[in-house]
Amino acid sequence: MFYQCSKCKKVWQYPVEKCPDCFLKLDRLENKKIKVIGVSKVTIPTLFHPKAPYFVLVLEDEKGNKWVQKSVREYKIGDNFEIQKSRDKNAVAIWRIKYDVLEGIEKVIEIIGDLDLKENSKILILPSLYKASHSYFRDNTSPEFLQATLNFLFQKGFKPENIKIGAQSFDETSVESKAKKSGLLDVCLKNKISPSDLSKTKFIKKENFEISEEAFKSDFILNLPILKMGKASASENPFFLLKKENYLRLKHLSEDKEIFENLNKVLPQCLTVAEADSIQDLEKFTTFFGLAIASLNALNIDRIFFEITKKGELPEILKEIKIENIPILGRKIEEVAL
Ligand SMILES: [Zn+2]
Repeated sequence: MFYQCSKCKKVWQYPVEKCPDCFLKLDRLENKKIKVIGVSKVTIPTLFHPKAPYFVLVLEDEKGNKWVQKSVREYKIGDNFEIQKSRDKNAVAIWRIKYDVLEGIEKVIEIIGDLDLKENSKILILPSLYKASHSYFRDNTSPEFLQATLNFLFQKGFKPENIKIGAQSFDETSVESKAKKSGLLDVCLKNKISPSDLSKTKFIKKENFEISEEAFKSDFILNLPILKMGKASASENPFFLLKKENYLRLKHLSEDKEIFENLNKVLPQCLTVAEADSIQDLEKFTTFFGLAIASLNALNIDRIFFEITKKGELPEILKEIKIENIPILGRKIEEVAL
């Protein structure tokens, strides 16, 4: 992604907000056709790139903008650089966020098939909201990631009145104080989106579940978890659609995996776009990671995230998922792994 001033035509590779000469907001330049114009093979491993050999490509788009990208696949000069897409519902898209969170979100959604949505579709967004803590602790989906997601939806023509952001608290702290402290409430208000305390909604019985009616009032659910090392945050986040007592009872009786799979059968279409930009490590310290990951299969996201971080024990819910069966698109695990 490049950014251009519409007046002086200067181009930047990172989103400076305004042109420093003309004070105008910059246009985002998307690239359509990418060619490989340089290839370096790196054979010496380093701290941040322990697996060698790998390739560093110099890429150029149709407007002559150039940038570098790591690749585990070898290319030749003159090759087209194409990003493969898939409509497989088990496919996972990984993209590196460099400076622009919105670009990461655009790419991962584009790769897994760009959604079959109409402008008047109703959407329920489900961010992670665990604690009443400031966003830099990364306990909750960050305000930046939620804002970028909304920008993406507005850009696609969705209207604020058709978007809802839902959450509830399963512990002693009220959802209001969590929403306020995390900065997520501010994002709702700024964008004229109505926040919904799911615990105060009606719950609808489906099989063993009591599910907030907000889930069924929407055409699809946008699961928007923040990932954490050693956890299965993407798969667990939709549990917050359940009535608290119902969830606690189910958790007492069955494994998370069973709850997840049965819940998935009765929910409307649920797309997960996971935040993995700045995230918590095993000691809960915030660490930079720089990724956005999306899939219609949340378990596959968690499994791949575990493979990338290789930190802690594989959570129970992920134990039977075979990494080799997951179609991975965008960036390869080896290109982004720790
Ligand atoms: Zn300018």
